[in-house]
Formats: sequence, structure tokens, C-alpha cells
Amino acid sequence: MTSPADLAFVNGAVYTVDAARRWARAVAVRDGRIVAVGADDPVRELIGPATEVVDLAGRMLLPGFQDAHVHPPPGGVEMLRCNLGDAYSLAEYERIVAEYAAAHPEVGWILGGGWSMDVFPGGNPPRTVLDRIVADRPVLLPSRDGHSVWVNSRALEIAGVTRDTVDPEDGVIVRGPDGEPWGTLHEGAMHLVDKFAPEDTTEDYLEGLAVAQTYLHSLGISAWQDAIVGIDSLYNTFDAYVQFARDGRLTARVVGALWWDRNRGEEQIDGFVAARERGRVGRFAPTTVKIMQDGVIENFTAGLLQPYLDERGEPTSNRGKSFVDPEELKRYVTRLDAEGFQVHFHAIGERAVREALDAFEAARGTNGTNDLRHHISHIQVVHPDDIPRFRELGVVGNGQPLWAQNEGQMRTLTIPFLGPERAAWQYPFGSLVRAGAMLAFGSDWSVSSPDPVEEIHVAVNRAGFPGYAYTDGSGDPDAASAPFLPGEAIDLPTAIHAFTMGSAYVNHLDDVTGSIEVGKLADLVVLDRNLFAHPPAQIYAANAVATYVEGERVFAAEALERPTS
Ligand SMILES: [Zn+2]
Repeated sequence: MTSPADLAFVNGAVYTVDAARRWARAVAVRDGRIVAVGADDPVRELIGPATEVVDLAGRMLLPGFQDAHVHPPPGGVEMLRCNLGDAYSLAEYERIVAEYAAAHPEVGWILGGGWSMDVFPGGNPPRTVLDRIVADRPVLLPSRDGHSVWVNSRALEIAGVTRDTVDPEDGVIVRGPDGEPWGTLHEGAMHLVDKFAPEDTTEDYLEGLAVAQTYLHSLGISAWQDAIVGIDSLYNTFDAYVQFARDGRLTARVVGALWWDRNRGEEQIDGFVAARERGRVGRFAPTTVKIMQDGVIENFTAGLLQPYLDERGEPTSNRGKSFVDPEELKRYVTRLDAEGFQVHFHAIGERAVREALDAFEAARGTNGTNDLRHHISHIQVVHPDDIPRFRELGVVGNGQPLWAQNEGQMRTLTIPFLGPERAAWQYPFGSLVRAGAMLAFGSDWSVSSPDPVEEIHVAVNRAGFPGYAYTDGSGDPDAASAPFLPGEAIDLPTAIHAFTMGSAYVNHLDDVTGSIEVGKLADLVVLDRNLFAHPPAQIYAANAVATYVEGERVFAAEALERPTS
């Protein structure tokens, strides 16, 4: 007689995400591993007096979600500060900043962020609004995509940024009609001011990580790839992860992507090698390097093959940025590949995507094939000629599906400046899957919601859902509900796969997680309803009610105890 299970789930809709996409009704877990998957009766035979039995009552059991691109420590820090991320109007922003400033007289700099570009004409918030609320202290608020900051006059004054300050090579100081700095700084220009603000400390990031981990577990997330882990630069979160893991507080599995400082060259690779060595602690593994190759379309810094259009639809002279010279990029990626690092790209425009693919091709030409599973995040605009190259080069498409909808930012700040042909190349998840590419999904939180159910909803419907904050930017509800490039929609099994096995593949965790199979670790999520039992337009309505990592419950909602509807 085999020994009894520690934990058993019975009477459920168990979608295993195994290779055959099998369904089951019950799962048994012992010592953190799955020991049985199948019908109720054989699993019930493993129930002993000490077994914890969860009656799913028809609820859905899935492999734990894995977010392939997310920023938990700064996201958590933002939740604890002046957090604009859940608001979506100038009036709300003003109220939140005023309340935060009043409640925190002890804070020298008002920090936080999360504003949405499409709330402001041209995507540029003015300092005058902040000056009216806070005049005596500097205010520095990043946008929700992190590519721009909104500052008040005091912050500009401290930084010495005036009408005479020249734009840095990699950024833009937005100026008003009078030539004065307007209050918005894009990309590299952010650092003119943020270098004067107090740096986030390891203590800050430890607090942020704790808050973020709790939040992400509450959405069914059991593992993630942190897309920026700084060792001595931006988002200096490396030490926080190592300490969190060492203290036994890291319940999630985390792959860290070490931040490539684009102002430095190959000499930083030795530092990555050393960090990978000393950073493998508990469930943390800093085995990836993140290279940001371009900016974003909304501030015209994403790298395009042909120029941006202006407001009248006429071509400008601007084709956006390549933050790393494409030829140098080939050399860097080849060297990282040879050192055994997975490379995680940020690439938004079709030129940046192509430069990333060219770099991977160069690495393969020199080093041959390997199993590093390089990936490109965002893949917003992909030239059709480059779609088959993902499969050919073994490069994973890392999508943020929540963005693939007719939201305000898409309609007012993206499509008009791309024109119809390129606008139709956006978020080509369907094309990538049809071309045989591996697809992984992530949220890029705190850029946007980290709820995998909402993201799966948009991947399947290519449209938003009731309550989604950012759909009403143009004031046209019909346009918001119209599917965005519906030919690029993927079906529900494919979307779930991308958020489980696909992301597990990117994280090199697919041999132990990502599906519900005997021998794998019991990283699991219970949803309050079977996603397949309702129309696709209802996917968003599901909620995680329990999350397990290695059989240990890391989140439980009260709803778990209630019978299902
Ligand atoms: Zn990101």
C-alpha cells in the first residue's frame, strides 16, 4: 500500500496542459509533488486521515500561472507610495497626489507613479498641475509604462533643468510653446531629474517584494521572470531577491533578468557571471540578461524601419531609437550566449525586433544551437518577414496580451502615427503560433494589470471587458469593444499554454512545473469557474481562489470555502 497523500483535490475540472491537453477530475500531492492525476476514485484511495482534501465542487484546477515579464519589487514599492496606477483621469490623479502629499509630510520627494499617457494631450502631463498641488517639495512620477516621468517645477529646479538644457542623446525634454520644460521627460531625459531623487534601497525593495508577491499569488501566479534585476544600476533589486530568498520568504519561483546597462559595453558581462554565481539562492536564479533595444511608440522612441507619421499622416524624419548599436548588439549577444546566459529583449518597433533577431542569428552562427531559449518581449510591431524567424532561430515570443486591444493609448497615440499597414502588424500572436513559434505571456506589471485571467481574456477576444480601466480614452465605447486585429486572436487552450507551459519553458522550469503531471511539483491555481464552460466573452469574470507552490497554499480566498455557482 502506498503512503497517503498530503493534499488531494477532488470533484474538479482539472485542465492539465499536458502534451495531449488531457482533462482530469482529481489530483493527489505528496511531499510537494504530484503523485496522481485522474478520476476521483483512484485519487480518493490515496486519502488518509491526515490528508487535506479540497473539494473543488466543479471549480477549475490549472498549473500555476507564470508571468514571463514582470517587475514585482518596484511594482510593490509603487503600491506603497503615491500610486496612480488604478486611476484614469486628471481629476483622480490630482486628488491622489494631494492626498498622498498631505498624508506624508515627512517625505522629501513625492514618488510613486502609474499615470496613463492618453489622459493628457499628446501624452505629456504639465508641471503646472503638480505645482498647484505641491510647490515646496519635488514631485517625480513615472508613467505606467515607465518610459516617461511627470515632474513639478521644484524637481526641475533641483536638477537644474531649464530651457537651455539640451536633450540627451537617448531622450526628450518636452517643452511648452514658450520653450520652457513642460513637465514631462521621456526615456533617457528622465535621468536628468531622477538621479537627484533618493534611490530606492534594498529595504524599500524588500518591502515592495513582499507586497508584490502576496498580490501576484492572489492572482494565481506561482512563478515569474523579473524583467529588470539591477546589480549596480537601474532597479537595483538583486540584493533584495537574494536576501528574500535566503530568509526563506521567497515562495514564488523567480528567474531574474540582469539589466544590461546600455551606457557600458562587454566589460559588464564579468559582473553578470559573478552575480549568477552568488545569486542562485532558494527559488531565485539570475540566469538571464535583459537588453532594452528601443523605447515605446507613444513617445516616438520605438525603433521603426520607416519613419513615424505626424498628426496629419505625413512622414516625419524620425525612425525612433536603437539603444544599442545593431552591430555591437550582435557582438554582445554572441558573447552572452557563449557565457550561457538567456537573453531577454525589450523590442517594440519592427526595426528593434529585427535587430534582436539578427543578433540571435549572429550568435547562432558563431556558437551553434543551444537550449538557452532567448526571448523577445512586447513584439508590438513585427514585420511579416520576421514572423518565421522566431521558430527558425528558436526564439520565444514573449507577449503582453492585455495591450492587444482598442484602448485609448492604441487609438490616440499609436495607430495614427504608424499608419494602417504597420498598425496591422501589431501583437501578431496568432501569426507566431501558426508559424510554429513558442509563445510565452507576461504582464509587464506595474505597466498594466498582472491578472492572467484578464490577459488571457484579451488574447482570446482581442477586446477589453467591463471594468477595464483604459478602454474609454477616446470616449467611443463602440470602438473599444471592437476586436483589435481579430485574425491575431488565439484560442483558449493556446492562451492558457502561453501563461503556463510557455512561460515555464522560458524560465527553464517546464521539466518540473507548467503542467499537471505525475512527478511535477504541485504549483497549482484554483479558479472559481471552468473557463471552458462559459463563452469566451466571459473569461475575464473568473477569479483565482487558491494558489499553491509545491503543495503549500500561498493564497486562499474566502470563496474557496463557498459552494461554486
Ligand atoms: Zn518591462
